[in-house]
Amino acid sequence: MQISVLGSTGSIGVQTLEVIENLNRNGYNIKIKALSANKNISLLQKQIEKFNPECVCVCDVSKANELKNILPGIQILSGNEGLICIARQKVNIIVNAIVGFDGMLPTFEAICAKNDVALANKESLVIAGQLIMQEAKKNNVRIIPIDSEHSAILQSMQEYTTDDIEKIYLTASGGPFHKIKNLANVTLEQALKHPTWSMGQKISIDSATMINKGFEIFEACCFFDLPQEKVNVLVHAQSLIHSMVQFKDGCIIAQLGPSDMRLPIQYALTYPKRVKNDFKRLDFNLCNLFEFDKPNESLLGIELCRQAINIGGTMPAALCIANDIAVRKFLNKEFAFLDIYKFIKYVMSRHDVILNYSIEDVLELKNQIENLNYEV
Ligand code: NDP
Ligand code: MG
Repeated sequence: MQISVLGSTGSIGVQTLEVIENLNRNGYNIKIKALSANKNISLLQKQIEKFNPECVCVCDVSKANELKNILPGIQILSGNEGLICIARQKVNIIVNAIVGFDGMLPTFEAICAKNDVALANKESLVIAGQLIMQEAKKNNVRIIPIDSEHSAILQSMQEYTTDDIEKIYLTASGGPFHKIKNLANVTLEQALKHPTWSMGQKISIDSATMINKGFEIFEACCFFDLPQEKVNVLVHAQSLIHSMVQFKDGCIIAQLGPSDMRLPIQYALTYPKRVKNDFKRLDFNLCNLFEFDKPNESLLGIELCRQAINIGGTMPAALCIANDIAVRKFLNKEFAFLDIYKFIKYVMSRHDVILNYSIEDVLELKNQIENLNYEV
């Protein structure tokens, strides 16, 4: 079996390689065809030495040149063209663990090349879900979710179909600000401290704003072909129930497990098989009660995403691009926490929606929004 891992130096990428090593110890024979990183060539170099891929892509061109000097024996691609080239190479599964907008085109290209995709980059679906799901259907390829909630839904679905679903409960930890009403002065350091998961910086901020949960509503609509009205958010701060499906007869199936992304990653790679591992197990002695709560309405992430999903077309893409920019500015301390929502609202209010959009339309939209003149 051959797998390529895009974004191999990130939180999901590193855990994916760990899962692959574990699967190889348990009877699998997975060969890594390609890896990619943006800038972190020192970690990528270690991964190359360990997994011996046929080629790699370093998106940052100067870092790619640096690596070429260190490792002359391996094919090193660069830029978005390099990523697309890897996405098109035939493999059994491409894991897309790139963060943000730049993950979208590799997902699309992988599907056009008839590669199955294990998808962590949820932005792909928010930006171009309609096109990606159509193309997957047309090419008969599978897109398997890595996101824990969607993996939970997939695992709960068993042999049932969309018609059997009454509603979905997407569980949410609530992020670090679930109990905080006044968000004007929250700091970057507080926002980065996720209570239950250890993740990359961007998704940590998306969890603090609840934009992440809003994205996941859209992701669920795409994966399971559901209207957003059927996707409910339930705060479950313990992060042990990863989501639940309520069927039309009123019965509910939930998926539980420790807060460990290696579990949904492994499931995406072995789907629908279960394979032994020695990752930590859930200890019921430490939790005798499951707690639920409503989302904090001062965190506007879910509301803004629901508005964008209702409008449809390119509006979710506009929101996602605006969010990428706003989070980057918040991480650089150019934006305060609430400026993230302000900027998204500003972009959404100026956006002329294209209902039947193309990939070129969303690429162009990215340029437009990047070049907006906006003063905080
Ligand atoms: P990280 O920031 O930890 O890693 C991102 C990866 O993408 C790194 O390999 C990084 O390279 C690479 N990268 C960054 N920018 C670019 C770019 N412009 N072009 C190409 N590659 C780039 O992110 P996470 O692993 O946390 O998240 C990855 C995706 O998975 C996100 O979409 C996130 O929403 C989703 N996800 C993450 C979860 C988690 O637990 N972390 C859970 C569920 C979903 P470099 O290291 O060189 O910067
Ligand atoms: Mg999630």
